[in-house]
Amino acid sequence: MIDILKKIQLEPDNLESIEMLIDEQIEAWHNDPKLQIDLAKMLGMNEYEWTAYGQGIDLKLLAGWRQKGWPTKCALCNEPLDYKSFGWFIIEGRKLVHIKCL
Ligand SMILES: [Zn+2]
Repeated sequence: MIDILKKIQLEPDNLESIEMLIDEQIEAWHNDPKLQIDLAKMLGMNEYEWTAYGQGIDLKLLAGWRQKGWPTKCALCNEPLDYKSFGWFIIEGRKLVHIKCL
């Protein structure tokens, strides 16, 4: 397993090679579906991080959220938002918003 977000924290200027690493892992996963490897686990992400990644979040920002905590308010309505209960979406690659606010 590679902890991608930790890697970004440690090597913030190395984003390009880290993104290549993600592509390699995804390719390896595609090429051997029989292994049934959990891709998120391979990349060291939890289910929330993985969901945000799938929605196109900026990886450096996501690494920062892991370290400092996720936003607790919706970027559109400013009402409380608990990322652990899902029902959110990432817009513009960096804003956490309620799905109902889209
Ligand atoms: Zn909202």
